[in-house]
Amino acid sequence: MTRRNAVDSSSYANLDEVVTTHLSLALRIDVAARRLCDDSTATLTLSARVPGVTTATLDTRGLDIVGVTDADGRELAYTASAVVGKLGGTLTVTMPPAFAAAAGAAATVTVRYTTDGLGGEGGAGGACGWLTAAQTASGAHPFVFTQCEAIHARSIFPCQDSPSVKATYDATLTVRAPLVAVASALAVGDPEAVAGPGGGDWVRYTFDQPVPVPAYLVAFAAGELVSRDLSPRCRVWAQPSVIEAAAHEFAEVDTLLATAERIAGPYVWQRYDLLTLPGSFPYGGMENPCLTFVTPTLLAGDRSLVSVVAHEIAHSWSGNLVTSASWPYFWLNEGWTVFLERRILHELHGAGVAGLSTYGGRQALRDYVSSVGVDHAYTALEPVLAPDTDPDDAFSVVPYERGYNFLLHLRSLLTPGDDPAPFDAFLRYYFGRYARQSITSDDLRAALSDFFPDAAGTLAAVDWAGWLKAPGGLPTAVPVDESLLHQAHALARTWAATAEAGGEGAAAVTAAVATTDAEGLATWPAAQRCAFLQHLGALTAASGGGDAAAATLLSPAAVAALDGVAHFNNSKNSEVLHLWLRLALPARYEPAVASAKAFVTSQGRMKFVRPLYRLLASVYPAGGMARALFEEHRDRLHSIAAKMIEKDFADQSAVGAVA
Ligand SMILES: [Zn+2]
Repeated sequence: MTRRNAVDSSSYANLDEVVTTHLSLALRIDVAARRLCDDSTATLTLSARVPGVTTATLDTRGLDIVGVTDADGRELAYTASAVVGKLGGTLTVTMPPAFAAAAGAAATVTVRYTTDGLGGEGGAGGACGWLTAAQTASGAHPFVFTQCEAIHARSIFPCQDSPSVKATYDATLTVRAPLVAVASALAVGDPEAVAGPGGGDWVRYTFDQPVPVPAYLVAFAAGELVSRDLSPRCRVWAQPSVIEAAAHEFAEVDTLLATAERIAGPYVWQRYDLLTLPGSFPYGGMENPCLTFVTPTLLAGDRSLVSVVAHEIAHSWSGNLVTSASWPYFWLNEGWTVFLERRILHELHGAGVAGLSTYGGRQALRDYVSSVGVDHAYTALEPVLAPDTDPDDAFSVVPYERGYNFLLHLRSLLTPGDDPAPFDAFLRYYFGRYARQSITSDDLRAALSDFFPDAAGTLAAVDWAGWLKAPGGLPTAVPVDESLLHQAHALARTWAATAEAGGEGAAAVTAAVATTDAEGLATWPAAQRCAFLQHLGALTAASGGGDAAAATLLSPAAVAALDGVAHFNNSKNSEVLHLWLRLALPARYEPAVASAKAFVTSQGRMKFVRPLYRLLASVYPAGGMARALFEEHRDRLHSIAAKMIEKDFADQSAVGAVA
């Protein structure tokens, strides 16, 4: 595949010649039939970047084009190529003659099309997650949500699918009542009843996004949805049976938002709403503007996971307002978002909780680098993507954690000392300077030089190439507050010692229970309880054998005693429960089996279900119990999750056969 433009190797559009300034979607979504109907249209307002442009090439994947017209409804000639490379196809439209007259000439192009939003045959997948009624909470109605990041927008509308292009957008979404449609934009007016094919009560919802966004931030969902207001600018959407729990869990979200504003500057999106998706949503969350999509596994009942929302809120500045110009600069989205997320945690919960998060991130980064090798190109902050590489394949913890640590390093050089607040002034300057733009690492460097005019020598001494271009682990790690971490690790060592106590085991367990009580583990922040469980798991993992994680040195009696004092097995906090089960299942603590079965069948977030199914299969291989459980409940899982678990089982039996 030859490169189609000099801007973004992930797009086949002629980005050098044409830019989209506005997008208008009119989609009829038949959720039961899993289709955008063939009267759906995308109208793009295009502007010529240079004189003499005669065609506009748009990205597509799995779209069936019905026709293309100009602003007056006249047919425009076009060529639709379903597949021009691994990343999809193109739609090349012959523009009206006036478009070639001069740079800045504008024209609108309306594309009528239909699609299942799944990306077509054998491709890299699509944006639409179609759920059957059985995959929802009530079981009464089907559901659909989209996930366009990184390059899936092209599977639901023709577009310049590059983060370098940002456009305002409006949309009408027409669905069959009683389904409700929501989008990553502001709702306009009340829904209207409209006529439609096949009878039924079609209802049209209208939206407007006045802030320019890249195509990957266009998002919608439709299903059995109700909402509750949380504050004048925040609302939560969920299925009826979940709405009370969601409204309780996210009641304080405006406090997070206000804290973020104090650090990063004004919130420009007017509304911050949350959409709690059905349990089969395979991901944690997605920062769709005006409407963050989240997994219901955040509903802990005690607001202990609301800090996860801090990450999505932070994207309102980094990623959504100031966007990386192409995917190799993705670290500017995620590194800054983790930075702002931990600043919010610091403000609301203290330096110790923020430090736990930093420690966990560094651990995850070390694990990733050692798993792929220190020379792997994707360990660099700005990975070089070969033509036709799906950016999703290059993404990992690197842009998040290496990115965060680089920014923390810059902060420590430019505003030394423990107080993070002085550097916040730079954040406000940076987000203001580049608002509504797409930028590269050079733009960050320019902003730092301008904001810190006396620090030219300091900035020149920074190892920019080492941080940005070189593969490997962290060049340096700025010290952070590890007080809560050390407390958690010390307690984990006490419990790990019970495994080495031999004949004195019972006495060691009794002592560990007393220490746990005295330390007040039950009242620790969830992140600290997680750090305890994670460290205890690492200290007691039995080495050797086929699957190290499937064996532990902890005795069932010790695990039972730990549960007796900490009640982990009944935790409603999904992160705590997940780490607990990874410790308790290998110890063959029987109550953990029922708990694990209930957990993997009540939600479908891949972060949790994949490792737990693997663990159930390796610890309890008898009778293919895990496999049978999966088969019994697979119709409640998202197709991506079911496919990945299927693959995990296959990999596991292949390893078993070799061993
Ligand atoms: Zn993020």
